[in-house]
Parts: sequence; structure tokens; C-alpha cells
Amino acid sequence: MSAASVLFADRDALGPVAAAIELCGVSKWYSLGQAAIRNVSLRIPHGCLTSLIGPSGCGKSTLLRLIAGLERPDEGRVWLHGLDITDHDPAQRDIGLVLQNYALFPHLSVLENVRYGLSATATQQPAAKDRAQAVLKLVDLDGYESRSTASLSGGEQQRVALARALAGEPRVLLLDEPLSSVDSGLRRQLREQICDIQKAFSLTVVYVTHDQAEALAVGDHVVVMHNGEVLQDGTPRDVYLTPCNEVVAEIMGAAMFLPAQVVEAGIVELYGYQMALPDASDVGACVTLLIRPEAWQVGAAGSPGFAGKILSCTYFGRGSEYLIQLEWGDVLATVWGAHTPYQIGSPVTVLLNSASVRVSKYRVPAGPAPP
Ligand code: ADP
Repeated sequence: MSAASVLFADRDALGPVAAAIELCGVSKWYSLGQAAIRNVSLRIPHGCLTSLIGPSGCGKSTLLRLIAGLERPDEGRVWLHGLDITDHDPAQRDIGLVLQNYALFPHLSVLENVRYGLSATATQQPAAKDRAQAVLKLVDLDGYESRSTASLSGGEQQRVALARALAGEPRVLLLDEPLSSVDSGLRRQLREQICDIQKAFSLTVVYVTHDQAEALAVGDHVVVMHNGEVLQDGTPRDVYLTPCNEVVAEIMGAAMFLPAQVVEAGIVELYGYQMALPDASDVGACVTLLIRPEAWQVGAAGSPGFAGKILSCTYFGRGSEYLIQLEWGDVLATVWGAHTPYQIGSPVTVLLNSASVRVSKYRVPAGPAPP
């Protein structure tokens, strides 16, 4: 019997779904003073994997707990598939939750832990064991049924927690930093497994992470949070290439915003250097360019471009990141692949690869005029 034939078999019988999760003006205070969540209005699309990213303490887990019903909002409403669930208990919400520490029962076997994820009525049904076994197969844990969870590795425990959450066939699965205690090789494998399961059953998944690369890799939709607020949400490309402000740009990776002028349609000038940018059409306008480290090309001193000096180098295996001092400021540049490293203090030239530069809607606050 395939896992797919046992699990989520009656999914279509629930009928068309208007929306997945909607938060309308939600705020949460744990104590007087700063709100953990501030006036968040957000729509989480149905059948997609939404990654929720932001620095530690920005309110990601609180937002997840509000959706799961483990916290009640002080203001605002939470909707699930068109139904106001703000006052519903967690058990009434049809939502599965995997916590960072897995929260498995150490005195129960793997199978018993997974059966615990079935609803009270489902547990009594003769098919309950089949369902628990099917879900264990789905996460590659068939054969582990009688093992004690205490004897499992971190990755295996994570998969039991995932199986337990899936056993209840939830409409929505919430994952709170599910891979934070797993080493990097396994992390990638488990991440792919989560994505495969999400796609196979068209689940609505919300995946909390503070890792920018992970948020971009797993998410069909990315929500960027900071200080209890949602700053931006959109596709991974939207939030990476067209962040709405400097904070989002920084959360999604190193970035700098530089002021430039449109000198001709499709041509901008940045500190005396002209380059083609098809997005720049408003001749005479001052625009802001979003430049990430991979947009800079580092070359030998004396070539065309901005002259600079290497200040520091960080090797990260697949390339190196150089901090380079230019006449008008310092820039971070990535050089991919094996290369003879540039020595600290050596002169270089940097050029912009215009395909990696975006005209940003964000405006750099007025500051000193460029030289
Ligand atoms: P994140 O998941 O992004 O790290 P959290 O949602 O855990 O952030 O926390 C958001 C803010 O709320 C933090 O300032 C945190 O200290 C505070 N907070 C979280 N849980 C509680 C709690 N149970 N009691 C008091 N403050 C809390």
C-alpha cells in the first residue's frame, strides 16, 4: 500500500478552499511594553511552502504559535480557509506543528509517537496502524516502528516529529526551525524531503528559519519579519532582488544601496561610471541601485572600472568574499570558484555586472553628496 493511498486520501472531499491562512491586524504583547507581534496583516497562500524569515527575537515563533492557537492575539483575527479561528482551540484547527526541540515522548516507541498524532477517533480505528506506518514510510522510517525515540539520531527524531504532525493529515503544517539541530549535510537532505512531501500533497506549509539561504531555497513564498512586523512578503526573487527597504535587503543577504542618476534612457551614472540598466527610463531622475556582493567583478589594477584596494578576504569554499576600499566607500565583492587569492593591501579594479544590479524602489535617505 503506498503512503499516498492511505494519507490525505479524502483531501478533495473537503471541497475548494478559498484561502489558506489570513492574519488581519494581529498584535501580541507578552508583557507591557514592546509588542512581540505588531499589527500584522498577512495572507499565506494555499498549497505552497511559505518561509518565514527574520532575525532571532523578531516574532517568528510567536506568529506560528498564534496560527496554531497556542497563543491568542491581543488584537486582530486569524482566519483559516475562510473561517475565523481566532477563538478556536489548537485541536480544532486542523494544523500540524513541528517544534524546534521535536517534543517527542521518550517513553513511547516511534510508532506510538506517530499514532499520538492521529485524532482521538482515528486512533481507535483499525486503519490507525496502517496510517501511522504509511506516514513513517513517507519519511523513510519504515522498520523503525518499535525503536525507542531516545535511541534515534537528531535527524531521525526530526523525521518522527514530522511523521507525527503529518499523521493527523493537517490542512496546514507549521515547522518552527525544524532543522536547527541537524548537521549541514543531513539538513539539505531533510529539507528536500520536506519540500517533496509538501508538493506531493499540496500542503500549505509555513517554515520558520533564520537562515536566508534556506528561506530562499525552500520557499515558494517568503515572509520577512523584523521587530514584530512583517516588512515584505513575495516570491524568493521579489524579496531578494527588490527588497522594499534596507532592512529586508540585509536580512536576505549582504547588500548596499547606492544613489545614481539616469543620464539617458537605459543608462545610469554611478560616481562617474556609466552602465546600461534597461529598468532606468526616467532621464534625469536620481535612482537607488541595489548592489549585492555578486554584482561586483574584481579584476587586475589598471583595468576599466573603479580602482580600489583589498582590505580583507573571507574564504568560504565555493569562493571568497573581499572587502574592497574604493575612493567613495567600501564594497563587498564575491569572487566565485578557485582563483589566485588577492592579497590584502593589493590594488584591484572593480566593475559592476549590470545584470545583477537592480533599480530599487527604496530611496536612500539624503546624505552627503557623492564626490
Ligand atoms: P523568534 O521566533 O523570531 O526568535 P519569538 O517569537 O520567540 O521570536 O519572540 C519574540 C519576542 O517575544 C522576543 O522579544 C521574546 O523574548 C518575546 N517572547 C517570546 N515568548 C515569550 C514568552 N512566553 N514570554 C515573554 N516574552 C516572550
